[in-house]
Amino acid sequence: MLMPLQCRCGQVKGELELERVHARATCYCRDCQAFARFLGQPGVLDARGGTDIVAAAPDAVRITAGAGNVACMSMGPKGLLRWYAACCRTPLANTSRDPKLFYTGLVATWLDATPAAVDAALGPRDRIVANTASATAPVASSPLRLLSGGLRIFGPVIAARLRGKRAGAPFFDGQGRPLREPDVISREQRQALQRGDRVDA
Ligand SMILES: [Zn+2]
Ligand SMILES: [Zn+2]
Repeated sequence: MLMPLQCRCGQVKGELELERVHARATCYCRDCQAFARFLGQPGVLDARGGTDIVAAAPDAVRITAGAGNVACMSMGPKGLLRWYAACCRTPLANTSRDPKLFYTGLVATWLDATPAAVDAALGPRDRIVANTASATAPVASSPLRLLSGGLRIFGPVIAARLRGKRAGAPFFDGQGRPLREPDVISREQRQALQRGDRVDA
C-alpha cells in the first residue's frame, strides 16, 4: 500500500510504501529541534519539542515530482543529512551520510494524509520515543519501551547491513553519493538553533 507524500506547497511529491516502514517514533533530540527551527515552519515540533519520524527502508520512498527542489543541510561535518523541500522549507527526511546504513527517517510532515489516516496506517506517534532527556516538557518513557522501539527500527537496519544493502534513490545515486552536497551550518549556528535563539537562516 502506498501513502502519498507532498510538501506544504505541493511541488515535492512522492509516495511511501507502507509495507517497508519499520516503525513510527517521536524524536526529542536537540538536532531534530534545531532542524525544525532552521526551517522555521510551524507544526513540525509537537508541544514537547518532538519530531514525528517514520523509520523506513530507503527504497520505501519514491519522489515523483519536484526532485529539483530537494535540498540538503547538516548540523556539522559528520552530522546526519537532513533533507527538505527548498520551495516551502518542509522537512522531508533524515539519512546517514553512509549509504551502507540502510535507513531513512521520513519526517511525518511530508505525509499527505489526515492525522487519523496516518495513525491508522502507522500507529500512534508516541508509542516509540527517543532522546526524551532533551524534550522541552516531561515525556513518559521506560527502558523496555526504548528497547522494543530500538529493535523495531534497528533490527531491519542491521539485517540490511548484513545483506550488504546500500541506500540509493531518492537521496543517493547508484554509487552511494548523496543527491546533493549538504550545506553544513557552523557550530555557532547549530548551538543557537539548539537553544532556540532566533536565527536568520
Ligand atoms: Zn514545497
Ligand atoms: Zn532527532
